[in-house]
Formats: sequence, C-alpha cells, structure tokens
Amino acid sequence: SLIASDITRVIVGLGATGLSVARHFAARGLPFAVADSRANPPGLETFKQEFPQVSLQLGDFDDNQFVSAGELYVNPGIPLSDPAIAAAKRAGVRISGDIDCFAAEARAPIVAITGSNGKSTVTTLVGEMARAAGVRVAVGGNLGVPALELLDDQCELYVLELSSFQLERCHNLGAEVATVLNVSADHLDHHGSMLNYHQAKHRIFQGCRKAVINADDRLSAPLVPDEVEQWYFGLGQSDFRRFGLMASGQSESIALARQPLVGVDELRIVGRHNVSNAMAALALGAAAGLPMAAMLSALRTFRGLAHRCEFVAEIGGVTYYNDSKATNVGAAVAAIKGLQSAGKILLVAGGLAKGGDFAPLAQALSHNARAVIVMGRDAALLESAMAGQVTTVRVDTMEQAVAEAAALAQPGDRVLLAPACASFDMFKGYAHRGECFTKAVRAMEAGQ
Ligand code: ADP
Repeated sequence: SLIASDITRVIVGLGATGLSVARHFAARGLPFAVADSRANPPGLETFKQEFPQVSLQLGDFDDNQFVSAGELYVNPGIPLSDPAIAAAKRAGVRISGDIDCFAAEARAPIVAITGSNGKSTVTTLVGEMARAAGVRVAVGGNLGVPALELLDDQCELYVLELSSFQLERCHNLGAEVATVLNVSADHLDHHGSMLNYHQAKHRIFQGCRKAVINADDRLSAPLVPDEVEQWYFGLGQSDFRRFGLMASGQSESIALARQPLVGVDELRIVGRHNVSNAMAALALGAAAGLPMAAMLSALRTFRGLAHRCEFVAEIGGVTYYNDSKATNVGAAVAAIKGLQSAGKILLVAGGLAKGGDFAPLAQALSHNARAVIVMGRDAALLESAMAGQVTTVRVDTMEQAVAEAAALAQPGDRVLLAPACASFDMFKGYAHRGECFTKAVRAMEAGQ
C-alpha cells in the first residue's frame, strides 16, 4: 500500500487537465496524489470512480503535503502565487504541469501556438491545413482535448494551443515550430505584470527548432539562437520566409517572397485581424513543412470558429455580430477595427475586466461608435473610460442590451458583442454569453 511519503507527485487541481494527468501517471504505474481547494471540483465523480485508491485531499491546500512533495503538477487554472504552491517552490519542489508530461513523450513534431488573441483560430486553421495535406494530425491543448489525451504513436503532427498559464509551468517544450502570435494586456490580475505575462508566453520558444514571428508586433519576437529558423508574417511586404500583403490590381493578396498566393477577398473569415491569423497559420504550416497547395485550399474553405466575429443576422439594415470570445481589450479593439464600414458601431461590452485598461477601447470607438451598451460587474470602469468620448447605456441583461442597441441603431450600423471582459459574473463562459446574445437577436428577428 502507499504511505504518504511514497507519493512524490501531487496533482494540484482536478478538472479535465488534472484528470488527464492522473490517467497519464496511472497508465505508467507512477504513484500520485491529488489536491483541490474546492469541495466539489469538476471531474470529482469520474475521478473517484477511476481512482478509488488514490489519495484525494479536498479543501484548503495542505502546506506540508506540498512542501514534502517531489513535484507539483499544477492545473493551469491555479495561480503559482497561491501561498501553499509558492512555499513549496521556495522549498525547492519542482512546479510542473501537463505540458511537460506531454513534451517528454510526444514522438511527432509539435507546432506550438500562444498569443493574447487568435490562438484558437490559428490552431484550428493549422490543423485543417495539415488534414488537407493528408497528415495524421492531433489538435488540442488549451483548446478542446487536453494535450495528454492527444498522445498517440500513429500521430504525425501535434498542433497545440497553449495558454500563458500552461507555459508558465512548462520547462522544455522542444517544439518543431513555436509562435507568440501577439502580446497585448490580458490576465494581468493573474500574472501580476505585463513583464511576467510576456515572459510566460515566451517560454514557448524553449528548445524550439523554428520560430514564427509577427512582424507587426515587436513583443512577439523571441531571443533565440541563430540556428533557429525564423519565419515572419505581417500586414507589410512579403519576402523570403515572410508572409505579407501585396496589391494585385484593385484587390490585395497574401504573398510569400513577393509571389501572390491567395486573394484577401477569397477568405471567408472577416476582419483585418483574421488576415493576420491566416498568414500566421501559413507561416506555421510552411515552417512545419506542409505543402502550400493543401494549405491554401484549407484556408479558402475555413469559415472560422463560433463566437469569433460571427455574423448572426441582418435586421432592418442593421447587422449583428457575435464576438463573445473577445474577452480582453486587444481582442475587442481588433474586432472593432476589423468590422469597420460606412455605418456606426454599437458595442455591447462589460463583465469582469481582469485588470485591463479600457483607454484603447475608448480610442478605437471615438470616431465610429454610436453607443456602448455596458453591463456586468465592471460596467462602471467602462463608463468612466468612455466618459466624454462615447455615449454609454447601462443594462442588466443581454436581452436588454440587444433591445437597447436595436433601438439606437440606424440602417447601415453594426451591433457588435465584443465585451473586452471575461463572462463569469453573468454567464457560464464566453460561449454561453454568445448564445444568449444570438438568442436575443433571433428572438427580435422573429418578432419583426
Ligand atoms: P484566443 O484563442 O487567443 O482567445 P480566438 O481565435 O478564439 O483567440 O479569438 C478570440 C478573439 O480575439 C476574437 O473573437 C477576436 O475578437 C480577437 N482576435 C482574433 N485574432 C486576433 C488577432 N490576430 N489580433 C487581435 N485580436 C484578435
């Protein structure tokens, strides 16, 4: 039987990731224990069924358990600044996570993607490109299936979306291709400062063979040795190993080495930021050795993901877009700029601000907004940022928000849900928030 001192591995935090780590250890016959500060964490029932013998500590973390552990595998949802975890770290306990376990066993090359915004879009698109090329690809990580559940000897390529939280506790990823798509303020409440957040993200380049860099964002460029092959993407000119834009007649094309590849108007994903995402995916795929023709055909058919600048309806000349996934200021600004047109924007925003600064949002809206409909816990922060620049209307529910926006909108305007905030004060998550918006719009459409 296991006595406490035999257990050197402690999984901190259950949920989908914690369960994946538990299964990983169990399959290898490695002893472990689990701790979660919640009385009823997600995945608890499954865990008890699968691992009735394993030590499970619920409620306040036990400092002694952590300090005497050999290694803590900390769920990305739990900050490393937690006192019990910080104490263990000071005592020399190794702090790790699911991505280290994954990297130690993955036999196929890894394309690793992080960034403040666009991760899911780019990760999904690179996966589609690989599939179009007939490559056996596994896609997941922070998006969809946890990384450890992707491990498969038959797999030829892994495409992983990684969050700053996962990277913060990852020691040597060794990706074939790695990128930080962009860096703008997000999760500063968790990371403490922009510097910490930036450093966490740049851990993605540890041991990488190729790096993809956003030429339009200095903060995306890593310090890597010369042997690391560097690829670029950006809205400027293309070059050798640099995807860019070029004019072709009246329109514009994505180009590589000054050769046009695909017209921007052939893309089905909308907004300038998605042109950038398309180029990022091409650069990642090219660096990973995917054939260009297959990548371009995947790009031409890619319709994007739900809740990301998703067209919902046109009612009385007013169009409605659901960009609920815009959970930070940078994302909301990208959506506002991306959706510019002759009409004005009615922005539906608010929720949990996560320590972000709303000034850039006010600036992006100052010339083309009709109003901002604000809601959620940090509504007052938005109102004060908009003061003197943009009219705001405070509401309590998503139905009211849609009704207010519709009442103020004029033909040609766009109503955009791009909250610049997290959703957990009012919703189960960004998807739930987006569904509530879509439902309210559809109800209004039906009532017309
Ligand atoms: P992530 O997985 O990083 O959250 P998504 O692909 O889900 O990224 O997109 C989230 C939101 O971020 C989108 O709804 C859009 O508003 C914004 N966004 C997407 N791509 C970019 C980009 N390249 N630059 C800035 N904002 C972006």
